[in-house]
Amino acid sequence: MVLGGSRGMGAAIVRRLAAEGRPVAFTYAASSGPAAALAAQVEAAGGTALAIQADSADAQAVRAAVEAAVARLGPLGVLVVNAGVLKGGTIDQFALDDFDHMLAVNVRGVFAAIHYAAPHLLDGGRVVVIGSNTAERIGTPGSSVYAMTKAAVAQLARGAALDFAPRRITVNTIQPGPIATDMTADLMDYILPRLPLGRIGEAGEVAGLVAWLAGPDAGYMTGANLTIDGGWSA
Ligand code: NDP
Repeated sequence: MVLGGSRGMGAAIVRRLAAEGRPVAFTYAASSGPAAALAAQVEAAGGTALAIQADSADAQAVRAAVEAAVARLGPLGVLVVNAGVLKGGTIDQFALDDFDHMLAVNVRGVFAAIHYAAPHLLDGGRVVVIGSNTAERIGTPGSSVYAMTKAAVAQLARGAALDFAPRRITVNTIQPGPIATDMTADLMDYILPRLPLGRIGEAGEVAGLVAWLAGPDAGYMTGANLTIDGGWSA
C-alpha cells in the first residue's frame, strides 16, 4: 500500500511495485483523474492497482483506506508512506494554518498510516517512509517548517523500527533531495545550478530504492535514513 500514490514519486513507486507483481493499493487527496489513469495503466499492464481517496490529514480517512485496501487485497507486505506537502516561507511570514496543515499531512498522517496499518502488516513486512534530505541539512531559507516535519518522521520511523523489530518488520526512511515532480516544478531555477551531479533526480530512482527495501536483500536494514539527493547535502 502506498499513501499518496497518484503523482510524482508515489506514482513511480506504485508502478514499480506493481511491475514486480505486487497488488498495490494507493491513496490520493484530490487527483481523482490521475489516480484513475494510473490504476488503469497498471491493470492494462497485467497488474492490480486500487485507488482510494483519503486525505492523510484526516486520520479516520487513513484508517478507512487501510481497511479498504486490506479487505480487497489482503494483509500488507509493504507500506510506503509518501504523501507529503511542501509550503515554503520564513518563520516570520509563515501562517499558522499552513504550519498546522503541514504537520497534519507530513507528521500526523504518517503516524496514522503506520498506526492503522500495523495490525495488518505481515510479519517480516516492510515500512518505508518518504522523508527528505532537509531533515539533516536544510541549506535553504524558508524551509524550516518542512524540514522540521521531515526530521520528525525520520525519528518516528526509527522508533517504529524498534517497536516492530520483534515481528521482523523493517522500518526505514528514504530522504530524497531534488526530484523532478510537480513539487519541484516551480523551483527549477534555484535547484538546477546547485545540483552536484548536474541533473535532477527521477522519481523512478526513488522507486528503485523502495523496491530494494521491499525486496529480499534488505531484511537486515532497519531504522536507517537513506539519502538519495545527487550529492546535494554532501
Ligand atoms: P507531488 O506533489 O508530486 O505528489 C504528492 C503526492 O502525495 C500526490 O500523489 C498527492 O496526492 C499526495 N498527497 C499530497 N497531500 C496528500 C494528502 N493530504 N493526503 C493524501 N495524499 C496526499 O510530490 P513528490 O512526489 O515530489 O513528493 C513525494 C514525497 O517526497 C513527499 O512526502 C515530499 O515531501 C517528499 N520529497 C520530495 C522531494 C522532491 O524533490 N520532489 C524531495 C524530498 C522529499 P494528490 O495527487 O491527490 O494531490
